[in-house]
Amino acid sequence: MIGDAAHTAVDVRARLAALREHDLPTHGGRTLAYVYDSGRPQVDAVASEALAAFGGTNGLDPSAFPSVAQMERDVLAFAARLFDAPDDAAGTVTSGGTESCLLAVLAARDARADVTRPQIVAPTSVHAAFHKAAHLFGLDLVLVDVDMVTLRADPDAMAAALTDRTVLVVVSAPSYAHGVIDPVGPIAAAAAARGIRCHVDACIGGWVLPFLGDEGERSGRPEWTFAVPGVTSISADLHKYGYAPKGVSLLVHRSMSLRHTHYWATADWPGYGVVNSTLQSTKSGGPLAAAWATCAMLGADGYADLARQARAGTLAIARAISGNDGPGSDARGSDGLGSDARGTAGSRSGIPGLRVLAHPDSTLVAVATDDSCDPYTICDELLVRRWYAQPQLPFRGGPASLHLTISAATAPQVPAFLEALGDAVAAARAAGPVAVDPALARLLAGVDPAALDEATVALLLAAAGLGPDPSGGAGLALPARMAPIHALLAVCPPPLRAALLVAVVERL
Ligand SMILES: *Cc1c(COP(=O)(O)O)cnc(C)c1O
Repeated sequence: MIGDAAHTAVDVRARLAALREHDLPTHGGRTLAYVYDSGRPQVDAVASEALAAFGGTNGLDPSAFPSVAQMERDVLAFAARLFDAPDDAAGTVTSGGTESCLLAVLAARDARADVTRPQIVAPTSVHAAFHKAAHLFGLDLVLVDVDMVTLRADPDAMAAALTDRTVLVVVSAPSYAHGVIDPVGPIAAAAAARGIRCHVDACIGGWVLPFLGDEGERSGRPEWTFAVPGVTSISADLHKYGYAPKGVSLLVHRSMSLRHTHYWATADWPGYGVVNSTLQSTKSGGPLAAAWATCAMLGADGYADLARQARAGTLAIARAISGNDGPGSDARGSDGLGSDARGTAGSRSGIPGLRVLAHPDSTLVAVATDDSCDPYTICDELLVRRWYAQPQLPFRGGPASLHLTISAATAPQVPAFLEALGDAVAAARAAGPVAVDPALARLLAGVDPAALDEATVALLLAAAGLGPDPSGGAGLALPARMAPIHALLAVCPPPLRAALLVAVVERL
């Protein structure tokens, strides 16, 4: 359809609608990763209008499009209040969490021209965005093991890892994979004592945690905002719990001077003077306008409602999985849920075969299995029941798990989700864990990802059940059941996993 004769608007709309049919639903609360649904269609409608109305504006030059600069100031002022920022705080709106994290690293690196081989020190739970930043900007990423029980960063080990080459320390509020907040206070203090920046990656928690208050919980949640001495920057994604459409995040620095080093400018060419505050140059005002509209429609009270709903749903899920005595239980007081939501399937004894990896500090839950089944098969079984959960592979001695991101629209459906989860686990237990041929596993352990050739890749993909696309071409057909593929990836060392994932995505 693309690139041949022109088509009518009717045809194009029909084709676009048909394309969307194969995607995971972005709304309705049944997709528990990638998407965030406030459950407020009117807010979404106005955000979509804003996205369209400003889609053609260009944030490249705020003097040409003052509307973009104004919306950026407004959204950043809201964030500054949420993050307890001092008066001279300064921020930047970016295209997403990864870009916010990249800029925090870039600013830290370029503020320390005196360091020849700069390092980032971060817990092993840090988001992949920092691996990418280290790769792109030529820093060493020093990973420090998290506490094996709490899955939070270990403050003493983090402090011990700091060197004269460290230009940035990173902690999470919360970590994506396990949903726990790192002990920001002692880590930021250790960094500050050595004059090192400390970035709090609140990409996923930044627009939900400030609205939770303590809900009558003695939450045990570590503090993580600028109220904590030593925190120098915070990233938060408006396209996550800000409930804006995709393409908008922000990075806030404690002061304007800390931000300065990720600005880039040149006048050394015959065209316009270039000043870029982000990695982009031409930058659509659409996502920012949509975020501005979403913030304006919801207001602080609206976000507080949505945050409480998502949090209550999260605790209900954790409690139902663990039973009332497990680590996901909440013996710490009221969570604002009525007894109806509390009395969901299996709430006394938990769901056999499952356990919550860590008590959720925010609105994310990581769920592991015992030997009777595996998380990959549970994901497949959930998908059959029209629920999407995200598989997480075993890592550094930790088990494989299911990742659940709970947004406000999921909260009213928690009983239905728990019923589907119970059925999915029963089916996964009946099937047993997916087995990988031990000979293949031994072979994979010895494969050097740097030396992977086309033939070996094709062989490995075929072994994983990934055949060529029957419609021809170089493409790949993904099977309905992904568990055998995840089980195969799980026995590969992480660098080989990455190489195989690239091979798959390249062929899609
Ligand atoms: C989502 C996320 C990121 C990366 O954000 P993108 O918007 O996917 O680029 C970084 N850190 C954390 C903790 C996240 O949850």
